[in-house]
Amino acid sequence: MKQYLSLKEKAKDCVLLFRLGDFYELFFEDAIECAPLLQIALTTRDGEIPMCGIPYHSLENYLPKLLNAGKKIALAEQMEEPGKGGIVRREIVQVLTPGLSIEEEERVLACLYYSEENWWLAFLNIGARKLKLIKFKEREELQDFIQNEPVKELLFPEGLKIEEIIPKRISINCLPSDYFNFHIAKEEILKTLKVQSLRGLNMEDGFIPSLGALFRYVKETLKEPPKTFGEIEIIYEESEVLPPSTLRNLEIFKTLEGERKEAFFNFFDKTLTPMGRRTLKEWMEHPLKEKKEILKRQEVVSFFLENKNVLKNLQNILKNTPDIPKILGKLELGREHPREVLSLGQAVFKLKEINNLFSGDIPSLLLEILDDLKDVPEEILEVRKILKEDIPFLYKEGNFIKNGVSKELDDLRDLKNNSSKAIFEFEKREREKLKIPTLKIKYNKVFGYFIEVSKGQVEKVPENYIRKQTLVNAERYYTPQIKELEERIKGAEEKIIEIELKIYEQLREKIKEKIPYLLNFSNALGKLDSLLSMSKVAEEEGFTLPQISEERELKIIEGWHPVVSKLVPLPFVPNDCILNAQKEQIMIITGPNMGGKSTYLRQVGLICLLAQIGSFVPAKEASVPIFDHIFTRVGSADFLYRGESTFMVEMIEMARILRSATDKSLILIDEVGRGTSTFDGLSIAWATVEYLHNVEGKRGLTLFATHYHELTNLERELERVINRTFAVKEYKEKIIFLHKLIEGAADRSYGIEVARLAGIPDGAIERAKEILKVLEKADLLKDRNIKKTKFEQLFLFEPSSPVLEEIKNLKIEELTPLEALNLIAKWKKEI
Ligand code: ATP
Repeated sequence: MKQYLSLKEKAKDCVLLFRLGDFYELFFEDAIECAPLLQIALTTRDGEIPMCGIPYHSLENYLPKLLNAGKKIALAEQMEEPGKGGIVRREIVQVLTPGLSIEEEERVLACLYYSEENWWLAFLNIGARKLKLIKFKEREELQDFIQNEPVKELLFPEGLKIEEIIPKRISINCLPSDYFNFHIAKEEILKTLKVQSLRGLNMEDGFIPSLGALFRYVKETLKEPPKTFGEIEIIYEESEVLPPSTLRNLEIFKTLEGERKEAFFNFFDKTLTPMGRRTLKEWMEHPLKEKKEILKRQEVVSFFLENKNVLKNLQNILKNTPDIPKILGKLELGREHPREVLSLGQAVFKLKEINNLFSGDIPSLLLEILDDLKDVPEEILEVRKILKEDIPFLYKEGNFIKNGVSKELDDLRDLKNNSSKAIFEFEKREREKLKIPTLKIKYNKVFGYFIEVSKGQVEKVPENYIRKQTLVNAERYYTPQIKELEERIKGAEEKIIEIELKIYEQLREKIKEKIPYLLNFSNALGKLDSLLSMSKVAEEEGFTLPQISEERELKIIEGWHPVVSKLVPLPFVPNDCILNAQKEQIMIITGPNMGGKSTYLRQVGLICLLAQIGSFVPAKEASVPIFDHIFTRVGSADFLYRGESTFMVEMIEMARILRSATDKSLILIDEVGRGTSTFDGLSIAWATVEYLHNVEGKRGLTLFATHYHELTNLERELERVINRTFAVKEYKEKIIFLHKLIEGAADRSYGIEVARLAGIPDGAIERAKEILKVLEKADLLKDRNIKKTKFEQLFLFEPSSPVLEEIKNLKIEELTPLEALNLIAKWKKEI
């Protein structure tokens, strides 16, 4: 307990897993707190110290439970063989934290710093070996991003107030400010990446504090940090095409309700390997901006569609490939099982065949990929020759290295086998000699080998048998000969295990040296798998190859929504989308509730996004420009946790779009201004359209769905605004949604009909109809034709206007009528 307490003192913020023989034990508070998390029984040691424990070989099963609960874990191992007198020395060999664990792939450690009005985020997924650096100008963007990524642990300097914007599921860790000191952090980065200068990284200086602090934390936490940080990819996300809100609103990885199953990615992802899935996900998150790069991917996707045999063969080879970066990560931390090393060797052996599948003309991107899969080092292929196929789970007890690898090992195995054989021959001989057919040689851990004779036969036992133990029905003996054989077996066994472990150690050291090669290899594999997946989807779903337009011109003929089209009971109605900078920049879409507006907006967004990652698209024909941003504004229910109102969230999103949009953006707005009074909402929606139309540099191609039918007047007033609507048919007092986009504007929303469909009681529906009639008659929104001049007048009395000030301070009761008239004349002049 003294030893335990001194180790616990060194790892105060951790749960200490203390190795005691075959168990990791937890004591005191740790035990009380963790037993329920681990779902194991809480007991006591010596009747008073709370304790619980897990078998050492199931550690991997239990770790995620603690990490997911946000716990930091220190592993204390026995550092010497027991039985050599005194207490076994123990040391903390590893610390695991929620963000620094490779047990599950979706684990991210992030480090945040704030300076020069920017948030600088360094972002490490150690399992997948991805390092990202991202800068955010707005707090909301940062919040959005962290919300959407699998961040498990967040580091930040003391004094930075961020707790309120971080979701509870993330464990936060406040570091002393010297971690973020510019010079210290810079040194740390240079040392970690083993470079002389940071110039080659092309990284803004603002990232230095957060990246340096992140590296230092990783090094200090993992006793043996990865040696190949230098190989980690650095991704800059400064001017991303997709803000996180777009990924959410287009329901790429999750639906707005948080479902993964019905999200687009679940439909689109036909990859066969974890590397492929990660790459495809990354491509979706970061669409390309260079036409050349898009065409390179398109070429490969087309190539596979034309060479279906190659596609099939490749799929067969890629199937069942393990998660290579994850195995490498474990290998570096010494936490792998030889079974994983074997699966790595087997996979690479199989995958090296890929190059043989190709001949003749090959697209350039494919050539680059194949190049990274060439020249597999012998050391990795050797794995198959060294490790047995059926490695026991408890491999540290030996029997996992093949015969023929080491002569010494083979000889010892022979010796062990011969000795075992000799024991059984001895048994046979003694049975015959002594005429005791029930004589048996048995083995147990306490006594080793012994001879067992049943009680009735003991008088036949010869002199040289030495009695060891008496049971109810039998006596147990040993002889010097048996002991000698036993010693020989035991000696051989110990030596065998030692040699096997040594051979394995050498093997893993060799593989560790090849980690840079293997990471490259698995990256290339990820790309290949991702491209294959896109070909497969294109083929199965009848997607078409989009043209990449150099103009600001979007043309989609008969596009469909790939997910909704599968969910609707009736055939999905395809729709066109024509937008361009000259005449048709902003499309105002009105139409009944349930008409298909949201679906249409998302489908256009998806098609543009797919085109920009090099994929085929769900349309009969498409020509898509390269957008610098795809902005979306859709419902916002899932953000209420921040304590902002629906309307506030809506306005924040709109503000961000209007501020960041450019002529080259795609802007999808599904309703704006709903959460406030009709007049306020309408005015905001109206002004938004005008802004996107009139302000130079903000003229992105825009789809604007709305229930404010007044907005359709803008078609007449603004030259690049067009009206579209979703057709409905009225039939016997009922409405039928045709889901077809047609020219023109809707004159009503059919909201009451939809309310009826939804099951609002008849009484309420009838009353609503009556009220609607009265309202329509009174026509509260009478002056639908809002003139521009009216808007201008609104601005006359700016809050700071001198006229306004004068009016405010005026004492009317002291004015004569003439003075009043003169004042009005003066103001008129001023205005
Ligand atoms: P609201 O104004 O009430 O938000 P909306 O006009 O945005 O409605 P959507 O949510 O896009 O309507 O669509 C409603 C339903 O109509 C969808 O869930 C889908 O089942 C169906 N639908 C939408 N588009 C089509 C289409 N093109 N073909 C067939 N069915 C469609």
